[in-house]
Amino acid sequence: MQTLLINGTWRTPRERLALDVVDPSTGKTFAEIGRGRADDIDDAVTAARASLSDSWGQFTALERSRVLLRAASLVSGQADELAKLEARETGKPLRVARAEIDVVARYFEFYGGAADKVGGHVIPYLAGHNAVATREPLGVTAHIIPWNYPAVMFGRSIAPALAVGNATVLKPAEDACLTTLKLAQILLDAGLPAGALNVVTGTGDEAGAALAAHPGIDFISFTGSPRVGTLVQQAAAINHVRCVLELGGKSPQIVFDDADLDAALPVIVNAIVQNAGQTCSAGSRVLIARDSYASFTARLAEAFSALQVGAPEHDAACGPLINRTQLERVTRFVDRASRDGVAILARGRIKDGTSPDGYFFAPTLFGNVPRDHELARDEVFGPVLAALPFDSEEHAIALANDTPYGLVTGVWTRDGDRQARMARRVRSGQVFINCYGAGAGVELPFGGFGRSGYGREKGLAALEEMSAVKTVVHRYG
Ligand code: NAD
Repeated sequence: MQTLLINGTWRTPRERLALDVVDPSTGKTFAEIGRGRADDIDDAVTAARASLSDSWGQFTALERSRVLLRAASLVSGQADELAKLEARETGKPLRVARAEIDVVARYFEFYGGAADKVGGHVIPYLAGHNAVATREPLGVTAHIIPWNYPAVMFGRSIAPALAVGNATVLKPAEDACLTTLKLAQILLDAGLPAGALNVVTGTGDEAGAALAAHPGIDFISFTGSPRVGTLVQQAAAINHVRCVLELGGKSPQIVFDDADLDAALPVIVNAIVQNAGQTCSAGSRVLIARDSYASFTARLAEAFSALQVGAPEHDAACGPLINRTQLERVTRFVDRASRDGVAILARGRIKDGTSPDGYFFAPTLFGNVPRDHELARDEVFGPVLAALPFDSEEHAIALANDTPYGLVTGVWTRDGDRQARMARRVRSGQVFINCYGAGAGVELPFGGFGRSGYGREKGLAALEEMSAVKTVVHRYG
């Protein structure tokens, strides 16, 4: 229950309320976390603010860099233990969780390496004046992260914020936050002073809403649903606080006739099955050139039929969904599509020996999905792939851009001119050509258009989002 980190000390919420943490593979409670509320958030923001004047704010860029680099090596040293915990609370296969912990270490390495290289520039100005534009921290940054990749989201959001000198308050997701608590302790062990990172576990409508609306914060990084993204923006508007919002997607994989289909097939399957489809950048639509449509969907169907879902130790293609609500939500999508006459081309299967109380869902491939059907437009957040044929490059672009989202696009073609045209014309924060995968590229700026949100995380772009330009003009005699 001591899951709140405030001013360097682990403690229970003021009101001593608790929440259960459920193992999605068994449906059984295996841990408890504190249910922090507005007064705990207030303590966290106060501690963060104080650290900017007392301790963390005095660290040089080099000292900040060293803390983050030490954290990177501590994460690597504890990777197996962290991966086990991450797999337990999210249900993902152990090998996948282990690979994700490497990504977390990489975030600390990347932003540790960058911390002392963020400079400004000199601006040519009037005679007898020096003008410089420098970058400085925003102040107290708030981070509200989801349950699908808790550890990775921690690294992605917290590491750049600390690199540029902000003090941070994290509200992890109530469904999966135990790894983030371990990572917070690792940062303390790496030399992060008290107050520079505070963590308040709790529900979204209590701790999350209180953090987003707190008048003492200067920035919000939010990853989650568009619905909550709207609430976060409304709260931020009142306090004139800048946001970065990452709200998911309906990302297309576009397969042309001349593509290397052998290379494309496993990548396309993995892009939707990975993390049981609970990935903001999941490739949840596959758009296929009409001439190849029948043969390629037949190959996809064969691959889907061979997929198995299991608990972390089963080393299956993917694990369960995160909770019962999510299982019911995904099931309803599939039931509605079947009722509407959309054809299921193939389904994977749930491995023998899994608990009947786990939230397992067999990967499902739908064919000839009408472009205006919800399966072709809305984020399911489950292992459900919608296949649609297209007749021309123009048609492919129209279909690709025909959702409210714009996060990631995959383009599969050997034609270099077409690659360039497609990259320019799809409305998408990232475009992958003859490859796909937003997860591991910590160097690559990431974010969306439209309903996918705005602002960019990852890469050097995150350092710009999480800092402000200050212009200083100095007249000399
Ligand atoms: P959510 O948006 O409710 O939760 C995400 C985070 O926001 C959690 O930490 C939650 O506690 C917090 N939160 C919830 N309500 C809040 C509020 N009023 N103010 C501030 N913070 C609040 O997402 P969910 O309910 O866990 O999942 C629902 C759907 O959201 C999914 O089916 C999926 O479509 C989408 N989702 C997207 C992502 C992504 O990576 N883009 C991640 C998780 C969920």
